[in-house]
Amino acid sequence: MEDRGNSSTTTLLDLVNLFNEMLDENDFNNAERASCLLLERFSDQYIAWYVRAIALRLTNRPKEALLAIDHSIWLHETSDALAELARIWQILDSHFRTDQELNQILALSFCREQDANAYKNVYFEVSGVCNAKCPYCVTGINCIIGRNIEDISARKFVDVDEFKFTINHLITNSIISRRESVVQLYNWGEPCLHPHFEKLLSILTENGIRYGFSTNCSVLKELAPSVLTNLNQVTFSMPGFSCDSYNRIHGFDFEQIKQNITNMVELWRKSGYRGSFIIAYHVYQFNILECEAAAKFASELGIGISFVHASLNGYNLLRSYFDDTMSRDALKKCSSELITYFYKNVKRPANYRCDQFDYLVINEHCELLPCCGVERGMPLYSLGKISEMTLEQIRDKKLNAQYCTKCAEIGMDYFGTAILRRAFGRF
Ligand code: SF4
Ligand code: SF4
Repeated sequence: MEDRGNSSTTTLLDLVNLFNEMLDENDFNNAERASCLLLERFSDQYIAWYVRAIALRLTNRPKEALLAIDHSIWLHETSDALAELARIWQILDSHFRTDQELNQILALSFCREQDANAYKNVYFEVSGVCNAKCPYCVTGINCIIGRNIEDISARKFVDVDEFKFTINHLITNSIISRRESVVQLYNWGEPCLHPHFEKLLSILTENGIRYGFSTNCSVLKELAPSVLTNLNQVTFSMPGFSCDSYNRIHGFDFEQIKQNITNMVELWRKSGYRGSFIIAYHVYQFNILECEAAAKFASELGIGISFVHASLNGYNLLRSYFDDTMSRDALKKCSSELITYFYKNVKRPANYRCDQFDYLVINEHCELLPCCGVERGMPLYSLGKISEMTLEQIRDKKLNAQYCTKCAEIGMDYFGTAILRRAFGRF
């Protein structure tokens, strides 16, 4: 079967015919394999999801079948798909109703409820490693408070098989939703350094999950058109628009970075990417006068740009500033480079609910983290393997994470939100 299904000239129709042949022979296991091949090649086609749903139903995986048929209907609604939806719901619902229309209504309302409960904003660190030297980031080689050695030595690239397994777990347990969630492939690492980055993207694409990532643009990536269909947004993080600014922060060759950005925009657009590109320009004291040149560069490329305050990235780094434990030298550096004059005026509203409670953050070991800011070495940094948790367990663990009380007490939980609210603008 592999030979018939895997050739580069195999069409959608060839694979559907192959699937039907398997069904005629009552060979459900091979039919299920044919449906996988369909999704590997044609995951943006509603018919591939329709076939997948039938295969999953016939191999006794009705919950997954329901999610697959719902996705097919989202891509394109057909009467066949609605009939399949009713069939699957009949298996799942303990009432064994025979009213097709009622089964469709109940199934769709169940699916929408699952979407509403799923995490929408997901940060999955696929590369715990970063090659930049940023002094105000826990991962940066020149971090001003020194690097957390325990944290740095445990950093790695996500294992491809474990990533696949984890994504599958998140979908089948409705922790994330195909319609509502976007998986961002970074936290404090450079995703494009992952040696199998494109494979990770193909796993998300085959699973019908939309994704985005932020990159420091030090690595030029060529991506196949097949993995770009589900790419939602690409962010280029920039610490200024001059050699001097790059020397101070990222430590990369500025001219090379500009060239990489230009090439990536051109290459990916040519490959069919229709989503957005945006430069996240981090404003420091020393690069304010470079904003205009950066905006011109973005406009010439036809991409967006947003200006945000550069800040202290990481729980310990930020906390050392707020609880006055940062060394004098580090503090002097902060006050000469970061824009900090408004920090003392940031007032946390008494009833503030941390934004991070609604974010799902997973590290490169596929462990659930309380939020984006925590670092290894902190007690209960990891809340455990996420593939062993249900949605309810995840919510519960996040809401009861150990640091939150102290974090809220000193107003750190509100700080990130306050910084974003002071963004200079987006063009
Ligand atoms: S801020 Fe971004 S580019 Fe800089 S070290 Fe941290 S993860 Fe890398
Ligand atoms: S309160 Fe602080 S530690 Fe807790 S989730 Fe929010 S930012 Fe993270």
